[in-house]
Order: sequence, then structure tokens, then C-alpha cells
Amino acid sequence: MTIANQCKFFGHIISIEKALAIRNAAKPGTRNSLAFECLKCGKPVRPHIAGDRCVAHFVHITRNPQCQFIDPPRDF
Ligand SMILES: [Zn+2]
Repeated sequence: MTIANQCKFFGHIISIEKALAIRNAAKPGTRNSLAFECLKCGKPVRPHIAGDRCVAHFVHITRNPQCQFIDPPRDF
């Protein structure tokens, strides 16, 4: 089990840093419809910025307990 620091975006594997830059460059209102996909399961993910207890990573928009990439608890 691991957290995701890469995703697929239009067929390309990109880093969390790149995804955050893409999201930050997107127009407000379109950010939640960006087509980031999980590398393991292909489900939609979104980039999450680093917090006090977690590095930047991707989380599934809809939690996927079957996926090898875990969604860290959102307790921060
Ligand atoms: Zn996944």
C-alpha cells in the first residue's frame, strides 16, 4: 500500500507537482473536472497539496478500497 505521487493525464504519466501546476493554471470552475486518472485503477483522482503530516499526493475522488493506492485519512 502506498500513496500516489503520479497520475495519468491524457495518456501521459505526470507528477503531483505537475498536476498541481496544471490545476493552479486552470480556470476557476474547471479545476474539479480535470481528467487526472489513477495509475493503478484508472478512476478519477485529484491532487492534494502537502499538509502538516502528509506530502502532496493524489486522492481518489470517489474512494476506492480495492486500489493499491490508498487515500490517507483526511484528519488534517
Ligand atoms: Zn486507484
